[in-house]
Amino acid sequence: MPIRVLVVDDNPDSLVITRGILEPKGYEVIEATSGPQALALVEQSPPDVVLLDIMMPGMSGLEVLQQLKERYETARIPVILVTAKTADEDVVQGYQSGADYYITKPFTGTQLLYGIELVLGRENSCD
Ligand SMILES: [Mg+2]
Repeated sequence: MPIRVLVVDDNPDSLVITRGILEPKGYEVIEATSGPQALALVEQSPPDVVLLDIMMPGMSGLEVLQQLKERYETARIPVILVTAKTADEDVVQGYQSGADYYITKPFTGTQLLYGIELVLGRENSCD
């Protein structure tokens, strides 16, 4: 079974870039372009990890994060914030909101793949 990654970003270019990094590595990529869509997809079929943009119209990524971490059924799904917000206080707020990892844009494929393996606990695996 491939590892399922839900990528949440209101910017279609970001989705294309992320998919282009993950699919060649064998990850299954699911996309959402808004917070409500992301929450609905998680409910339908929980992913193994969520990559979550913060700045989105309507519901911000931090609100999505808080809802995921508040619910028993979804609290254990690792969430990586992937965001252009690079200030120290944003990073701290992200972790305080329950993020498992924080990646700032622009990111490299290596950073993204490492972050996913880290939150999945596979950083020492040899495969
Ligand atoms: Mg955005």
